[in-house]
Amino acid sequence: MQPLTNRSKVIVNKEMSFMERIYIPAIVGGMWTTLKHFFRKPATVKYPDEQRPFAPVYRGLHVLKRDENGAERCTACGLCAVACPAEAITMVAEERERGEEKLYREEKYAATYEINMLRCIFCGLCEEACPKEAIFLTDRIVPSDYVRQNFIFGKDLLVEGVEPEKRIDVTVRQKHIQEKKQAASTQA
Ligand code: SF4
Ligand code: SF4
Repeated sequence: MQPLTNRSKVIVNKEMSFMERIYIPAIVGGMWTTLKHFFRKPATVKYPDEQRPFAPVYRGLHVLKRDENGAERCTACGLCAVACPAEAITMVAEERERGEEKLYREEKYAATYEINMLRCIFCGLCEEACPKEAIFLTDRIVPSDYVRQNFIFGKDLLVEGVEPEKRIDVTVRQKHIQEKKQAASTQA
C-alpha cells in the first residue's frame, strides 16, 4: 500500500539472539534497577506525620495584620477586592467611632471582611494592592472541610491576635512584595 506520508518507519522483525530469547539478562537488569531503588532516599514523605518545608514566599491562608499598638490596619478601601481576579473578597466599611482608636488605625475600618477560600486562587494580588500593608498571605494551609459555608473566612479567622505570641510574622513576604514593587517601578 502506498504510504500517505513519508514519516512511516520500516519495522524490521529481526530475529532474537540467544541471550534475548532466554530473557535472563533482561530479568537480571530489571531486578538490578529495582534493587538500586532500595538504597535511594525515597522521593515521597509520610504526610501528615512528615511535611515538606514550604518555600519562604509560599502563598497560603491570609492574615489581616494589626499595627504595633494592636489596632487593625485595614481601612476598608476595597483595593484588594478590586484587584482580586477571583472576586473572592467582600467587605462592609464602617466609620470609626470616638474611643475606637485603639481598635482601628484608620478612620474607616472593615466591619465585615470575608474571603471565600473556595474561590481564592492564592495569587497574592490582594496583598500587592493593599496600600496599608494590612493583608498578607502566609505559609498556613486552609484547613479542609466538608461544608462549603465553612470556607468563607471572616475577620474572626483572618485578623491576627493582639498578643505578641498570636502575631503572624510576615517579614519574608513583606520583603518579597517590596522587591516586586521596586522591580516593577524600575521597569516602568
Ligand atoms: S490571593 Fe488572589 S484570589 Fe485570593 S483573595 Fe487574594 S487576590 Fe483574590
Ligand atoms: S486589606 Fe488593604 S486593600 Fe484591602 S480593604 Fe483593607 S486596607 Fe484596603
